[in-house]
Amino acid sequence: MIDYHIHPEYSIDAKGSVHDYCNEALERGIGELCFTTHLDLDPRRDDCYVRVTEKTVRSNSSVWFEDYESTIRRAADEFIEKNLVVRMGVEVDLYPGVVEDLPEAFHSTDFDLIIGSIHLLDHLAISVKEESQRFFTKHSLEDLAERYYGLLLEMLDTGFFNILGHLDIYRRYGEEYYGAKIHRIWEPHIKDLVKKMKHHDVGFEINTSSWRQGLSEPMPETLLIDQFVKRGIENVTVGSDSHNPTTLGAGIQRAYEILHKVGLQEITTYLHKKPTRKRMAT
Ligand SMILES: [Zn+2]
Ligand SMILES: [Zn+2]
Repeated sequence: MIDYHIHPEYSIDAKGSVHDYCNEALERGIGELCFTTHLDLDPRRDDCYVRVTEKTVRSNSSVWFEDYESTIRRAADEFIEKNLVVRMGVEVDLYPGVVEDLPEAFHSTDFDLIIGSIHLLDHLAISVKEESQRFFTKHSLEDLAERYYGLLLEMLDTGFFNILGHLDIYRRYGEEYYGAKIHRIWEPHIKDLVKKMKHHDVGFEINTSSWRQGLSEPMPETLLIDQFVKRGIENVTVGSDSHNPTTLGAGIQRAYEILHKVGLQEITTYLHKKPTRKRMAT
């Protein structure tokens, strides 16, 4: 089993050291981890920070990248002897202009995986309850779809990330606000989306955190996973989006079952941003 979306304590909203997570993975029989701390850079927000050696620093400062990389590579060397593979990734928040805001140290760091995730629309976090309501009250469901998928297509053209994170995150709070129609808003965009994903060799993840938040489906939901697989997207990772070692690996088995159901037998792992597909092992 793998868990390819994990926030160690470098993320200001997370608990648990890299070492804690690795020990937990051994306990839980997980064979491969990829750490994916947040890289939030929107200059219009006041929450773009990273925690390093118990200090909080701005995400775009170069001081934390080296510490992050060496800590994870050290853990990788230590835990490979215990049959745990440890990779170093990052979850970059996608917004218009993000590429220009990526710090120099980002480009010189040898990440294994870059997840690109939308959290913000109009600088408001649709992934957070109160802020999402502020966005929703000003926008129809059609607007939301245009804005979200429009941004996703624009971001895909930047070609700097490997995996789309929690693809239909707008359902987290939008399902309750807009109702069942929200399940289909991807329909007009799926063709372009798949085309660009293939062109830039971008896959998607199954993010299992929505199950812990009371939704009945992972992100993206089964309907959309099925569409991607049918349309020939082959690179798929799975991740718990844990912000605490206590949820490491949560829902991964269920995500594997969905992939089997839609006819995919392989899971993708990344090393130096290069994908390798292997048969799903439980
Ligand atoms: Zn995220
Ligand atoms: Zn995350």
